[in-house]
Amino acid sequence: PRGTTEQLIATADQHSAHNYHPLPVVVASAEGAWMTDVEDRRYLDLLAGYSALNFGHGHPRLIATAKEQLDRLTLTSRAFHHDRFAEFCTQLAELCGMESVLPMNTGAEAVETAVKTARKWGYQVKGVPDGRAKIIVASGNFHGRTTTVISFSTDEDARANFGPYTPGFEIVPYGDLAALEAALDEHGEDVVAVMLEPIQGEAGVLIPPAEYLPGVRELTRARNVLFIADEIQSGLGRTGRTFACEHEGVVPDIYLLGKALGGGVVPVSAVVSSREIMSVYRPGEHGSTFGGNPLACAVALEVVAMLRSGEYQERARELGDHLHRELQLLTGTGKVEAVRVRGLWAGVDISPSFGTGREISEKLMARGVLVKDTHGSTIRIAPPLVISKEDLDWGLDQLRAVLAG
Ligand code: PLP
Repeated sequence: PRGTTEQLIATADQHSAHNYHPLPVVVASAEGAWMTDVEDRRYLDLLAGYSALNFGHGHPRLIATAKEQLDRLTLTSRAFHHDRFAEFCTQLAELCGMESVLPMNTGAEAVETAVKTARKWGYQVKGVPDGRAKIIVASGNFHGRTTTVISFSTDEDARANFGPYTPGFEIVPYGDLAALEAALDEHGEDVVAVMLEPIQGEAGVLIPPAEYLPGVRELTRARNVLFIADEIQSGLGRTGRTFACEHEGVVPDIYLLGKALGGGVVPVSAVVSSREIMSVYRPGEHGSTFGGNPLACAVALEVVAMLRSGEYQERARELGDHLHRELQLLTGTGKVEAVRVRGLWAGVDISPSFGTGREISEKLMARGVLVKDTHGSTIRIAPPLVISKEDLDWGLDQLRAVLAG
């Protein structure tokens, strides 16, 4: 080990920005759904890197692919072609039922790219007067941390003191079709896109009413407005389908992907859409040095191949049904106010009288389970999809014990 837990945390505190408040555990290695800290204590990972680790830690297929690619070619920049790019774009587009891919690195970059794509589409295809494009987003959203993206956040912690803010966004209540329709009426032809998380992850795994996404699809289609689905956290197997939109039979105009696309190995994000929409780009108008690099493409290609089998989605459905049944039982205890579950993804609202999300997370940590609170009183449970049923049950035992204590 490179130091004790206390030493390493104290040193990090001295030499890093305090833009996070991590649980006091220092992880040194991991495999599958388990992490080991510098004191050799083992923890069950029920966060999975905010769903970047859908395939678990160190999945043999992903690690082997990455190692092989590391030995061959890691970066060319997009100044030149490389031999993994074509296959990656083809296979990812096919997985999405789309035609064209624009690869970036982080989720926030994919969101930024979608904003640029929708605006340019608005000016060049829809005929919106220059500078007037509007994008409608939802309250409680989380789309990333860049200056433009936080401009349309409703979370004061994420926004305050980072202005001036980027204009051109309208915020409507999430899950409310009438409010969306009113905003579309109000801003008329200037609206180029509606951008939403099909399930809001950071907000606490908020699942909108069943008619919401189909309604958004209908309204946007009728008004010649792009529907951008931010599936960065909800997509790629987490909910028991490749995309959360699939549960409602909805196909957006643009998918945003990230997190699990890089298999927890490398940052890979992408905007995936039709050839027509993507054709707004000409050379020099957008890009990224690392976007679509050979290592990223190789790992993401393996991720796409793994998802194509459907086995991870099926696992998320089966284990998710089990998780749902077990969590539902907790609502009778008075210590849990509500649970929301879709696939292997759950938001558990702890009764404020019993404790904060942080306190529950710390108690779970002491019992060898790692989760993270979100928005004060909610615990999000999002294990790697490769977790065994026995391990998941053990994790649930620990939660029950904390709630009983
Ligand atoms: N969009 C959604 C729905 C997310 O959940 C996140 C991250 O949590 C992002 C975008 C931003 O991704 P990144 O942190 O990779 O920039």
